[in-house]
Amino acid sequence: MFDIDGTLLHAGGAGRRAIARVFRERYGHGEMFDGVRFHGMTDRAIVRGGLERVGAPVDDATIDAICETYLVALAEEVHRTEGFRVFAGVETLLDALAGRDALAIGLGTGNLREGARVKLERAGIAHHFPFGGFGCDHEHRPTIVRIAAERGAARLGVPLDACRVVVIGDTPLDVDAARAIGADCVAVTTGGIDAATLAGAGATRVFDDFASDGVLAALVGA
Ligand SMILES: [Mg+2]
Repeated sequence: MFDIDGTLLHAGGAGRRAIARVFRERYGHGEMFDGVRFHGMTDRAIVRGGLERVGAPVDDATIDAICETYLVALAEEVHRTEGFRVFAGVETLLDALAGRDALAIGLGTGNLREGARVKLERAGIAHHFPFGGFGCDHEHRPTIVRIAAERGAARLGVPLDACRVVVIGDTPLDVDAARAIGADCVAVTTGGIDAATLAGAGATRVFDDFASDGVLAALVGA
């Protein structure tokens, strides 16, 4: 299960601009996100944090409404951002993983499902991810990856207990989520978090990027 931001791609700050814009339109200012690191945070948790900082009531209906507006803003920002890029080795790795027996490739991401789709379609890799756990499934990443793992096992038609689950991410929160569900975690430093930090968090393996030697073997033992 792949994380998206910092792992597969860099969306050029589109998500940050979109959420700041929604808060500016709704509450008159969007600066409450300045200096806040979104690394590894789920979309609903980001919205909740924004509401707390702006002093607005925090409830599920408000978070739902903001998420809906955010997705419209995100689509616009993702389409026009110039800083968008897919990291080295991603397409080659996904092609190498495609079509293998007994292997399910999905997402374990804090992005809302529709936000994930928008980013992955711009990247041209959405077709590689037929299932996942998303930021609309839950606010907490360990639950998101557990849901994703259950969906992956269901696709394979086997019990989850019989699967080797690998969470692939770029932050200690990805590593924590993997450990919480007893999964391996293959981490990459493309999101800006260094190898020592990711290894210290308990990542099974850490690579500079997916073009590095040994990535495919770390994922599928091939
Ligand atoms: Mg990430």
